[in-house]
Amino acid sequence: MKEQLRKNLDEVIWNIEQARVSINEHHIVKLVAVGKYSDEENIKTLYELGQRAFGENQVQQLQQRMQNLDELPLEWHMLGHLQSNKVNKLIELRPTLLQSLDSIKLANALNKKLVEKNQKLSCLLQINSANEESKSGVKADEAVDIYQQIKETCPQLKLKGVMCIGAYVEDEKEIQKSFELTHKIFDSLKYDGATICSMGMSNDYELAIKCGSNLVRIGSKIFN
Ligand SMILES: *Cc1c(COP(=O)(O)O)cnc(C)c1O
Repeated sequence: MKEQLRKNLDEVIWNIEQARVSINEHHIVKLVAVGKYSDEENIKTLYELGQRAFGENQVQQLQQRMQNLDELPLEWHMLGHLQSNKVNKLIELRPTLLQSLDSIKLANALNKKLVEKNQKLSCLLQINSANEESKSGVKADEAVDIYQQIKETCPQLKLKGVMCIGAYVEDEKEIQKSFELTHKIFDSLKYDGATICSMGMSNDYELAIKCGSNLVRIGSKIFN
């Protein structure tokens, strides 16, 4: 298994490298390995291979893995929709980054609890840039306003940028459109301190990087 993981990781890193230098050799892309289809053993192996940042999309699983792999110096990202009854638990875990801040309501709930605990939390605003029913995230045409509103009203949240999931379609042009739209929003938020544009998963990360992504979240291409 270790050799397979090494091969997968090398291939993904190589592809990221090709995509990023095709834009600009100064464009740095961060890789977050998404362990949701895999187990702790494999996460540990990946750590031994040099990977440091990991993502999960359920609080329960995030908690288990953070606890069980506590001795490793890992960075943990929360990627999935956060239900309001999981707010406390997530805050206790102190993840490196909550990438799925997807409403003002959630921002307010988090901020309130963070005030009580005198704690801060780094977040990305999730944008539903393909405008799909099945996905959470704020609407693209409201994203800038909402970002600024959260920045003003939720001082415990450190907004660091945006996240989107590419359009769930075959047509690459449609996927590209959703990435370009998200990147445009990211660009206009740079004055508000946005530095992270999280786009791209196993099937579309090279395209996402070419559209300006500087953080990719990859699960199946690494762990399968
Ligand atoms: C599962 C998941 C990923 C990784 O998906 P793959 O297609 O397996 O790379 C990335 N981001 C989010 C939000 C996810 O839920």
